[in-house]
Amino acid sequence: MIFRRKGKSGEVKRHKPTCSFCGKLQGQSGVRLVAGPGVFICSECISLANEILWGHNPPAPASS
Ligand SMILES: [Zn+2]
Repeated sequence: MIFRRKGKSGEVKRHKPTCSFCGKLQGQSGVRLVAGPGVFICSECISLANEILWGHNPPAPASS
């Protein structure tokens, strides 16, 4: 069986990747995104996750 996509618009949108966790845009100051399967995570969320994983004090949520 052959499945053919009929969508005429490109499935893969040429969109700037954003962090799937905080929504930061790649290219913002100091923001680097790491791509996962269908998701992105930015450097800030990685360090945040690291702190959580390694048991450091949870940083106060920065609401800038
Ligand atoms: Zn993020």
